[in-house]
Amino acid sequence: MGTILSCRCKGCGYEERLFVGGGLRDCNPDTALRAVPNDRALERALREGARFQIDRDITVCQKCRRLFVVPYVTYWPAEDESRHTAAACPACNQLLTRYSHQITSIPCPSCGRTMDLLPCGHWD
Ligand SMILES: [Zn+2]
Ligand SMILES: [Zn+2]
Repeated sequence: MGTILSCRCKGCGYEERLFVGGGLRDCNPDTALRAVPNDRALERALREGARFQIDRDITVCQKCRRLFVVPYVTYWPAEDESRHTAAACPACNQLLTRYSHQITSIPCPSCGRTMDLLPCGHWD
């Protein structure tokens, strides 16, 4: 089950609702392939039955100055090897900076003031 976080900047009024964590469909390899299209290595590993995990994490695009939640896939093509996929901004395609999913406050991407992340529900 995923968490819905709400954040609002007291400085500039920027606000966002963020759907983080993982949902029911995230155990399905098809969800991972849809989340990270055109990743040949991931495709091959999943076809061969590799273990994987999807994490929907908070990211910031420095160019758009917005927060996004994007899916990252960690997968294990072999026993002693793990890999992470990268993610690009859905708006401008620039590489995103990822925050830890344990985070409870975040600098406002628009003005830099600290915003609190408040859980306001669940999704699945
Ligand atoms: Zn962007
Ligand atoms: Zn702000």
